[in-house]
Amino acid sequence: MPTIKLSETECRKDLLPAVCMFCGEPSTERKQKNFAWHPSWVWILILVNLIVVLVVALILTKRMTVRVPVCDRHRGYWMRRGWILSLSFVAVAALTIGGLIFASNQVPRNEDLTGWVCGGGVFLFFVWLVVAAVYSANGVRPSEITDRYIKLAGVHQDFVNALEEDRDRDREEEEEYRRKRRAEREIEDRDRDRDRDRDRPRFDERRRDDDDELDRRARE
Ligand SMILES: [Zn+2]
Repeated sequence: MPTIKLSETECRKDLLPAVCMFCGEPSTERKQKNFAWHPSWVWILILVNLIVVLVVALILTKRMTVRVPVCDRHRGYWMRRGWILSLSFVAVAALTIGGLIFASNQVPRNEDLTGWVCGGGVFLFFVWLVVAAVYSANGVRPSEITDRYIKLAGVHQDFVNALEEDRDRDREEEEEYRRKRRAEREIEDRDRDRDRDRDRPRFDERRRDDDDELDRRARE
């Protein structure tokens, strides 16, 4: 899935094409989404401390709001993903807690079973963490945010094509406007020159009159 770079102006002025970012179908509405991103190297700091990671990530986090064009099918895209992640987490937690309750209710007490359930719960949680990370690394997500642009990964190729067509058209329109403006200015300049040429004899005459007047005064 391609990555697209959207300028801050395009996001602020809502200049994205009416094409669903997820499937390339015509969009029916726009969903306001606040993207947040921080450089992934902050995770190296986990060697120091988790708190350090969180603080540095928080300081370096950049945000950008995009009104994302979506079709009817994808209007609940992020909500659905959020639900899938949280419900699967709840399922893992419920399974572990249920297992622990079951193990502790065994008569006579079975320490081995409790140990296995505990270990199983931790293992399940790590599996969930990996699956959740892979799941989050797919789909539309920011791959970089600065003050001037946002890079979105996982967008549909048709959205990219539509956006590039829009940009080409905008560029052509601007070029056309500049060409027209230049032509108008040339006409204005020519008119001004012509007016000045027309005014010059009058100006010369006036000077001649003034000279005559001076001559007359000198003679008197
Ligand atoms: Zn769609």
